[in-house]
Amino acid sequence: MAHNMPGDRFLPHPDAEWYDRRIGSSGGDLTYDELYAATPGQHRSYLRYVLAGHRGERAWAVRDLAEWKPQWLVPWNDAVTTFDDAALEHLWSVEGRDCWFAARGASDTAVDALADRIGAGPRPGRAEAGFFSGVHRMQLLVGADTDHALARLADLARADPTVARIAEEHGVWVPPHGPGVRRYVSQPWLIVADQDDPEPGLRIDPPIGEYLDDPRGVRCAWPLSVVLDVDLSLVGLGAPGERRHPFFGSLCEDCEADEEMADWRGWSAAGGRLVFDEEREDHCPGNEPDLGDWPLPARVGLAHDDRFEPDRVWRRSKRLGRVGGRPVFQQNPHWPGCCGRPMVFVGQTAQSVLGGFDQYLYGFACECGAGAQVGQHT
Ligand SMILES: [Zn+2]
Ligand SMILES: [Zn+2]
Repeated sequence: MAHNMPGDRFLPHPDAEWYDRRIGSSGGDLTYDELYAATPGQHRSYLRYVLAGHRGERAWAVRDLAEWKPQWLVPWNDAVTTFDDAALEHLWSVEGRDCWFAARGASDTAVDALADRIGAGPRPGRAEAGFFSGVHRMQLLVGADTDHALARLADLARADPTVARIAEEHGVWVPPHGPGVRRYVSQPWLIVADQDDPEPGLRIDPPIGEYLDDPRGVRCAWPLSVVLDVDLSLVGLGAPGERRHPFFGSLCEDCEADEEMADWRGWSAAGGRLVFDEEREDHCPGNEPDLGDWPLPARVGLAHDDRFEPDRVWRRSKRLGRVGGRPVFQQNPHWPGCCGRPMVFVGQTAQSVLGGFDQYLYGFACECGAGAQVGQHT
């Protein structure tokens, strides 16, 4: 067995025609170009190599594949749920904080075994060996994202506050009875410019006056902008045209109040307008942005990621964010709650869409009309 491949013994080599054992065992020394041009069978084989350990190098492949090519994960997702502590901690080290997507779509049998293992306790304390893998195991159950996994997760969460916290942080509401409830739509969309069929539920830079009576920032006198708004029917909240969710950005030049870096905005709805939770408190007089001829994206629509398809269209520069799915956090996960449960995740975009500071904006909405925005940067 190769070094740094602790997941290897948990991932049986399939006896299927598509499987390339050389790639599945060692990666096959494929270059990036070869990997992009590979067949689906070779891709799936390569995924085994990543999950087994990727020789200890960063891979960052699993989340994207789980979201956009879930069928490639099917040969492996059950096996990942059987990983021991060393294999799980290693998977985290090659895949980062989103490694729990590796269990997406795991079978009910695998979910039951995983949930039994989580429930068997007692778990190691924070400073003890096996603590983090115990947390990763709970995250895998969250990541399986099947109805059965949500039922098992809710039972565990009602008995154990640690599981309850993990569920909430990942957007699963645990009601007093019954299965966990998704506060997100499982399948994300990319927001992309220059589409042949623009999506009317998406608008770039709509008038701020549609949302705020007082358009100024919380700490800065320069008016805020709405980077993008999203018709909430796109994430299953209400009917089309009923309610939209704004992503707020600040374009104040050299803002001394750090309005452009605001890592939190929360609001409630009143009389058809939104009211920020925080009271206004000017620290910056507001400086007009010098954006020159910043071109606003046009013909904005929804698309799937196609980076793993050989005939892919390279549209990195046209990517404006995501609708649905779960947040791709840059920093620690923060899933706001309202009315006693996690809010619904709307999507994410960045202020830089309008030419501003490159901050990621994560949008959340509650059925009561309230909303929230988390800001993070790399
Ligand atoms: Zn300012
Ligand atoms: Zn609410």
